[in-house]
Amino acid sequence: MAGYDLHTHSTASDGSLEPRALVNAAYDAGVRVLALTDHDTLAGLSAARQTADKLEGMVFVDGVELTCLWQTRVIHLLGLGIDPEFSGFAEYMQVLTTLRDERAEKIAEKLVKKGLPDLLAEARAIAGDGQIGRPHFAQAMLNRKMVSTAQQAFDMWLGQGKAGDVKATWPSLEKAVGLVKQSGGYAIVAHPTKYKFTFTRLRALVEDLLAAGGDGVEVSFPGVTPNHLRDLLLLAQRKALWVSAGSDFHSPEQRWTSLGRFPQFQSPKHIVERLMPDGMAGRLA
Ligand code: AMP
Ligand code: MN
Ligand code: MN
Ligand code: MN
Repeated sequence: MAGYDLHTHSTASDGSLEPRALVNAAYDAGVRVLALTDHDTLAGLSAARQTADKLEGMVFVDGVELTCLWQTRVIHLLGLGIDPEFSGFAEYMQVLTTLRDERAEKIAEKLVKKGLPDLLAEARAIAGDGQIGRPHFAQAMLNRKMVSTAQQAFDMWLGQGKAGDVKATWPSLEKAVGLVKQSGGYAIVAHPTKYKFTFTRLRALVEDLLAAGGDGVEVSFPGVTPNHLRDLLLLAQRKALWVSAGSDFHSPEQRWTSLGRFPQFQSPKHIVERLMPDGMAGRLA
């Protein structure tokens, strides 16, 4: 247990817990510095912060996980310690909502062409007021017993290269980094090993992140191997990057992630120290 978690999701995007319930669950799990980082929305932040403010010793960090394009690939960029009131967010998020709604329609159409039932209404209902994404289609498939796990839904229909992996014109990495920086946050590449890049390519990504004004990389998250964790820490050290870590928690049903759980490590440039109020830094294990 780390006592902090800088990467989590709520019902505002593809998580299963409401923002309030997420904060309470994190607190119960021993987390004392928590960032909510929903995909492409800030809608959960105010309820989460209100809840956190009532819990003694709980530090809440406003965050977001922005979907963006680097070269031809989709990258996830964490914005940590952002100001949700920054004026640039409103239009940016509106664009992403429209983009995700239109993409959802295309995903449904593509799946229908493959002989599946039209899942759009059900996926929309599951997403509720939150940003719609592929996990909501996976849940619709699960509900209809078309698959037995969400993973299977991705393997068969929604994952990379499958019919439901519909391309979208996400904002560029430069634009996403710019937005995070303008709002006073730290711009961090999420789960760098999940894009299946070679390390050479990853270094190129980091160069472009830095050129755009970004800050660092997530080095620890569930599933990171000890070798990858070490390589990421070395890369961070060489480039003087900030490093971050989090569970990428989505749901209590995902047995392989739980709040505050990911491999431990030491770094002199841990972003959590920057995100805590003065005087509290260094108190975490
Ligand atoms: P989207 O933002 O709509 O492209 O959906 C991406 C989300 O789908 C990720 O944030 C994960 O929560 C989930 N996801 C992506 N790939 C997989 C996978 N192979 N198995 C299960 N969930 C996945
Ligand atoms: Mn997700
Ligand atoms: Mn992600
Ligand atoms: Mn995530």
